[in-house]
Amino acid sequence: MARSSSEIREAFLRFFEAKGHRIVASASLVPEGDPTLLFTNAGMVPFKNVFLGAETREYVRAVTSQKCMRVSGKHNDLENVGHTPRHNTFFEMLGNFSFGDYFKGEAVEYSWELLTERFGIDPARLAASVFREDDEAYELWREKIGLPEERLFRLGEDENFWSMGETGPCGPCAEIHIDFGVNGRCRSAHCDPSCDCGRWLEIWNLVFMQFNRDAAGNMTPLPKPSIDTGASLERLASVLQGVPSNFDTDLFRGIMDRIQEISKIERGTNAEHDVSMNVIADHARALVFLIGDGVIPGNEGRGYVLRRLLRRAARHGVLLGVERPFLFSVGDAVIDEMASAYPELRERRAYVTDRIRREEEHFLETLSKGLVRLEEDIAELEASGSKVLSGEAVFKLYDTYGFPVDLTADILAGRNLEIDEVGFDTAMTAQRQRARAAWKGSGDERVAEIYGRLAADIRTRFRGYSELSGTSTVRALLVDGERREVAACGEAVEVVVAETPFYAESGGQVGDRGTLRVPGGVVEISDTQRPALELVVHRGVVTAGELRVGAEAELAVDADARAATVRNHSGTHLLHAALRSVLGSQAMQKGSLVGPDRLRFDFTHDAPLDDGEIEAIEDLANLWIERNAPARVREMPYAEAIESGAVAIFNEKYGDVVRVVQFGDFSTELCGGTHAAATGEIGLLKILSESGIASGVRRIEALTGLGARNHLRRQENALKTASELLRVPVADVPARIEKLLEDRRAADREIERLQSAQRGEASKDLTRDAKRISGVRVVAARVASAGAKDLRAMVDDLRSRLASGIVLLAAERDGQVSLALGVTQDLSDRFRAGDLIREIATVVGGKGGGRPDFAQAGGSDPSKIDEAFERLDALIAGS
Ligand SMILES: [Zn+2]
Ligand SMILES: [Zn+2]
Repeated sequence: MARSSSEIREAFLRFFEAKGHRIVASASLVPEGDPTLLFTNAGMVPFKNVFLGAETREYVRAVTSQKCMRVSGKHNDLENVGHTPRHNTFFEMLGNFSFGDYFKGEAVEYSWELLTERFGIDPARLAASVFREDDEAYELWREKIGLPEERLFRLGEDENFWSMGETGPCGPCAEIHIDFGVNGRCRSAHCDPSCDCGRWLEIWNLVFMQFNRDAAGNMTPLPKPSIDTGASLERLASVLQGVPSNFDTDLFRGIMDRIQEISKIERGTNAEHDVSMNVIADHARALVFLIGDGVIPGNEGRGYVLRRLLRRAARHGVLLGVERPFLFSVGDAVIDEMASAYPELRERRAYVTDRIRREEEHFLETLSKGLVRLEEDIAELEASGSKVLSGEAVFKLYDTYGFPVDLTADILAGRNLEIDEVGFDTAMTAQRQRARAAWKGSGDERVAEIYGRLAADIRTRFRGYSELSGTSTVRALLVDGERREVAACGEAVEVVVAETPFYAESGGQVGDRGTLRVPGGVVEISDTQRPALELVVHRGVVTAGELRVGAEAELAVDADARAATVRNHSGTHLLHAALRSVLGSQAMQKGSLVGPDRLRFDFTHDAPLDDGEIEAIEDLANLWIERNAPARVREMPYAEAIESGAVAIFNEKYGDVVRVVQFGDFSTELCGGTHAAATGEIGLLKILSESGIASGVRRIEALTGLGARNHLRRQENALKTASELLRVPVADVPARIEKLLEDRRAADREIERLQSAQRGEASKDLTRDAKRISGVRVVAARVASAGAKDLRAMVDDLRSRLASGIVLLAAERDGQVSLALGVTQDLSDRFRAGDLIREIATVVGGKGGGRPDFAQAGGSDPSKIDEAFERLDALIAGS
């Protein structure tokens, strides 16, 4: 039964929705708050904290179609992609989840019902494998489903046991496979789904999270076992559409058409060309979704993966004879294909395709430089008589110039040369280790565990959208990460209450501060955080009395600080809208930080803003402030919000129901923060600075309300002071300063002229004192403290006055001696200034040197200056 991929995706979600599951929108490919993970690589990733008990949701059953990326791992080496029918870097994982609700029985039954009844797969084509020791699952398949034993297998840990990490949740799994039937290729006596003869295709993995594994490896049953399943949409589509590979499904049809159109090569006519087309199609999907989720090409981490994918795809374009940027156009086809399921792609279309095109252009340039470099390497090799290019050189080409190894090998082979593969592998392994080390997670697990346990039995209700104070019961206290019943005066404490008006830091808005009072105690709250979705902790210090669990607390948010934060936060919405209006919709929010005293806004844009653009943005934001447009806050499903034109922020994690904040007709954003009731409250928005913080990312710092007024007041006061000092009206200050600078330059010129005249006078006197030694006229004199430049000018002057002779001047300054010595041209055969001064400098405890006609030296003993003069006389006399 042929079905389109969107029908399959939709049917999967609706099937489970009818079974009481909440449909949750796909999370970003960039995992939030998980430094251990490069990309979201499975449907369970966004729910990790829910499975660990550190976070609770308002539902216990969920179903998703999750964007996933796999670029390394057991079966997913990047180099395989394109060569096999099933490997993809980007894919969509369909999955249903039970958070301590239903378990094995329902999970197995649901999967069977969906596959056989909804999708109409012939039960005779299906097989299942379970973990060797999981009798319960075996019986379920055998008895309840009625799967015959010849298509039911018990497999080992490698195949059918799953764990989240070294410790933590783990359990057996059941895999459902398509059985393509006995074929002539199998060499195994016991062909089962672990055999790679091609008979079996795994289409769905059901994980039964049943145990918790501790550091010693002991497994204890979880109190509430959970379900996590995953089925690749691409595989399911290939099965239901009866095509031989993921690349033949409708998901890739439009993309392949575009590639054929560009390359003018028909798919299916040449095996190598088909591989190239697969690579391009796969990577183009990855590029679109990565860039769409805010990743920017770079030289490390996620950006580096993105860059490698693009280069690999571009190289395969060259293999198809396309030597100009074209991936951006393939990316366009990807967006056509996927925008109905991921509507945010539509609004990011221009940004995504433009980013791809520029990175391609950059690469093609790099590639031609790499070819030059390779030619140099080859010339060197041939000169040395060696036949093997070192692994390091190959790696450098690969790493710096994006030169695929097979390309280097190909070019070398044409010259009867080869590459050192072992050396390359070594360099590559070292690189991988560096990359892995960079992604090693930190995270204080002990504290995370404590928060997890707190979150399991306490949920904090946030009431601070409408209220700034309230009463609630103290539910828990933490001191130094340990739970306590009492916190004493002076102790730093984390307080958990049932209901709070305090906003916990998220979405760039800082946590509220304020006070918490109980009968007989006060806590000054300096920060509020949310370690789990529904757990709020207030951090502060007990400043009077003590605090006990169970006490009734009065909570009061610092209203002035909150109001300032609200103005700044709402200011970012206007700034964002104004940026998009002035610069175009490719200017997208990349991050923000909003506190009571500042506002920082990062966005994607390639060039510095000029003054005109900054003014236009500021004017537009202030125009909207003057309009005093009221805020309209609604909650609605994510997809609906995006369809209605709301702007989602990169990397922000959204629930299935989102909060939409709208000001007038100019700004609509998904946002959970606190906002002004109307734009007029913001008062004034003033941009302070604009700068670049990373490739393609700019940062604006701005102020609003009182902060903006105080800033302007400070500027005004500085101007007033300047006007008073200059005794001119403020408006005339710049002209007055210009005039002063002009006067100053004239005065400097006059000083220079006078000094020069003075030197002339002094020299005239000195020439009169010249003595004659061995027929050479010699001037040796102390001059008033002067810099090296002045000394030199005086020596030059004296030399020309003497016409023939030797001049030595000494100046004393701060206990140091400066010497300068000149020899006229006619004496240069007999005396060299540099040689003379080297000798003389030793007398005053210094060193020196210079040219034959002029030399300088320094010294540290001014009392020996006369001795130095005598040494000169002696040197001349002795020559
Ligand atoms: Zn086999
Ligand atoms: Zn907001």
